[in-house]
Amino acid sequence: MNPAIPDLAALHALGAAQQPSYPDAAAVDAAVARLRSYPPLVFAGECDRLTDKLAAVTRGEAFLLQGGDCAETFDGVTADNVRNKLRVLLQMAVVLTYAASVPVVKLGRFAGQYAKPRSSDFETRDGVTLPAYRGDAVNGFEFTEAARIPDPQRLVDVYHSSASTLNLVRAFTTGGYADLRQVHAWNTDFVQGSAVGSRYEAVANEIDRALTFMKAIGADPDEFHRVEMHSSHEALVLEYEHAMTRIDSRTDLPYDVSSHFVWIGERTRQLDGAHVELLSKIRNPIGVKLGPTTSADDAIALSEKLNPENTPGRLTFITRMGAGKIRDLLPPLVEKVEAAGLQVAWVSDPMHGNTYEASSGYKTRSLADVTDEVQGFFDVHRSLGTWPGGIHVELTGDDVTECVGGLEDLAEMDLGNRYESVCDPRLNRVQSLELAFLVAEMLRK
Ligand code: PEP
Ligand code: MN
Repeated sequence: MNPAIPDLAALHALGAAQQPSYPDAAAVDAAVARLRSYPPLVFAGECDRLTDKLAAVTRGEAFLLQGGDCAETFDGVTADNVRNKLRVLLQMAVVLTYAASVPVVKLGRFAGQYAKPRSSDFETRDGVTLPAYRGDAVNGFEFTEAARIPDPQRLVDVYHSSASTLNLVRAFTTGGYADLRQVHAWNTDFVQGSAVGSRYEAVANEIDRALTFMKAIGADPDEFHRVEMHSSHEALVLEYEHAMTRIDSRTDLPYDVSSHFVWIGERTRQLDGAHVELLSKIRNPIGVKLGPTTSADDAIALSEKLNPENTPGRLTFITRMGAGKIRDLLPPLVEKVEAAGLQVAWVSDPMHGNTYEASSGYKTRSLADVTDEVQGFFDVHRSLGTWPGGIHVELTGDDVTECVGGLEDLAEMDLGNRYESVCDPRLNRVQSLELAFLVAEMLRK
């Protein structure tokens, strides 16, 4: 290992929040050793390309669309599930690109999003208290004592599940499915006649006409036939991220080859903590979630530590303030970070500041709040002359009932119909596409 990267024990010694308490140290060592022997899931050069694209976002020349499940599951690694997620992301990207004429950087929150920080270490149901579920990377969702024991073998399973997902994504995005001539096909089996489905059809028709025209004049660039989709997840479990950190033979520099982009969560962004230390050493493009307690000084210190060379594209700040707070809390943050001359891409996570418990007990979010936070994010950046660089959303390509509101008017009463998330509520396909149209309008103004 490169001497610049602390070993795992040294990292843990710095203090690491939200880590599993593994009962068997030898089993952890065995899993880590196994992971270290596996080939990279992504290449350093791909990570660098994403950094270049995020530099364009930082300069105000592109928009980031980052989305996927709150928590992927091993069972969720099926062709249908991955394709549906990809499809909604492709549809959203088309809407944003076409309606706003801005290049869209496509970043899946998938192929590695298996570990979850929790607000409580325990969960109580019907008087029984067990360790909280921390994602399939750590323990089982099933509410039994045995399932909730952290098992390091699961980290090996994360690798294989991520590899399968990424393989399928690469096949879909370069093998014809993402071809722009499929723009209508992505919409079939969509609730035909749904308002948002018809609106999408109108965009698709216009794109079709443009493609036909391009073809007629003899232009058929590669970009029409494939998209570049990158992967991302929260870098949470140190054993996994450390084992997947490798020295790139081309440049002799360390990369976390588990994903193109990794981010530090709101609960693990302590300046002197292990997560910030590890991510300060890798060369991937990285993000940090910034919640409502973030001061401008915190953000500046994080940028100085994580991006000391002030490289555009290296650092993305993902703000998640809540719809009711963003207009007050974001301006001083952006102003001071920008005044310090720091190069960051600003992205809005309109999900995590807007979660509440419905009367039925389901964790939910309303599309109105989500939209309002994005609108607040745009308003603040527009008034400061800075660039609202993108959105980071929890979504799925399926017709789940986890968030309320939207054109289908999903009510709290409906949440039980198809609530499948093992963690936070996701926008369903209709809600996701609706959000894309709303954001496209904000971008156009
Ligand atoms: C998440 O993205 O699922 C998450 C836990 O976010 P945050 O760290 O912003 O709370
Ligand atoms: Mn979440």
